[in-house]
Amino acid sequence: MNDKSHVSLEQHLCLVCGVPFDTGSLLLDRRLKASLEHRTTTGWGLCTEHQKMFDDGFVALIECDPQRSGAPSGNARLKPEQAYRTGRLAHLKRHVFAKIFNVPIADDQSCVFVEPGVIEKLQSSVAHAD
Ligand SMILES: [Zn+2]
Repeated sequence: MNDKSHVSLEQHLCLVCGVPFDTGSLLLDRRLKASLEHRTTTGWGLCTEHQKMFDDGFVALIECDPQRSGAPSGNARLKPEQAYRTGRLAHLKRHVFAKIFNVPIADDQSCVFVEPGVIEKLQSSVAHAD
């Protein structure tokens, strides 16, 4: 049985949680041949939940295991598809992030990859901040 189709639901992977979600777009095979899977992942985006966090002014910290992530050479940024997510996440207001890490953060930057231990340390320091 051939379960391919000439239309496919486009999906993006959420940068933050790595979960695929529907973009609401349909992909169409130009020759109308049944060449497509039911769902096609075409890139990265933000799922509804994390888009909302981003809109609310949060930046997501995504913990990655550098041992298992595709090692970026030199100072190259880790690409989303190379990152091995540990599953630990944190959200910080952008200005808080900039203050704690002492780095400016671009308005369109929705997430930052951090090494194991960073989020834990952050949460314990935030917990004691009051
Ligand atoms: Zn998400």
